[in-house]
Amino acid sequence: VVKLANVHKSFGSNKVLDGVSFEVGRGEVAAVIGQSGSGKSTALRCINALETIEGGTIEVCGHAVHDKALDRRNLRRDVGIVFQSYNLFPHLTVEQNIMLAPTCVKALSKQKARDLAHEVLARVGLGEKAGHYPEQLSGGQQQRVAIARSLAMQPKLMLFDEVTSALDPQLTGEVLKVMEDLARGGMTMILVTHEMAFARKVASKVVYMHKGKVWETGPGSMLDKPTTPELADFVGSGL
Ligand code: ATP
Ligand code: MG
Repeated sequence: VVKLANVHKSFGSNKVLDGVSFEVGRGEVAAVIGQSGSGKSTALRCINALETIEGGTIEVCGHAVHDKALDRRNLRRDVGIVFQSYNLFPHLTVEQNIMLAPTCVKALSKQKARDLAHEVLARVGLGEKAGHYPEQLSGGQQQRVAIARSLAMQPKLMLFDEVTSALDPQLTGEVLKVMEDLARGGMTMILVTHEMAFARKVASKVVYMHKGKVWETGPGSMLDKPTTPELADFVGSGL
């Protein structure tokens, strides 16, 4: 479903992705880990064409993302992305926030979009919050609404960039549970995370990035027996 091959990306003279290659198959959950500044968010943003790349190729759900002629709108119908900040519209209810993209982008009828909103809200355990405004919800609940909003577009791939970093441990647990349920439901996911226990348990593949390179990659158990000193350091530092 996703294939990065020898991807290069710089910001000015700062080489941020230096020949990054990895693949994520259908139904796989890949956890991208690594020190701050190692290029994790940039890699994720390149997958969704939020950044352009200077070299290499990126294939996502049949789209050639590296191609200058890429239709970004088509790509983004297939790919949902959730960030650390939820970016819900404060003046819209939870339900209205979720209905927005399906009605505007997919031209779904209001009734269909509303049904869909209730369905995805139930999936993230917020069935009873449809009529609330974002400010009436906890951070964890708002983040789950943001996930539901992405799910309403029925993506083939979900990208998550440190979606729990701003949350306290209990709220983090609620959001991780939603992501685990999604994974069990067969959703293909790539998540940047500092939650090592979650990566070990849920990810079918861990991608450790260091200095803009994929330093080590393997199953979750790789975290228990790192083969590079860098990953050993990273895991040992408790991050
Ligand atoms: P963190 O764990 O802190 O989120 P990260 O692994 O996600 O780190 P990136 O956000 O991908 O790291 O950033 C990698 C490098 O690219 C950093 O040196 C950063 O300063 C630089 N960078 C990222 N985005 C931009 C940008 N839009 N313009 C210039 N430099 C950028
Ligand atoms: Mg980041």
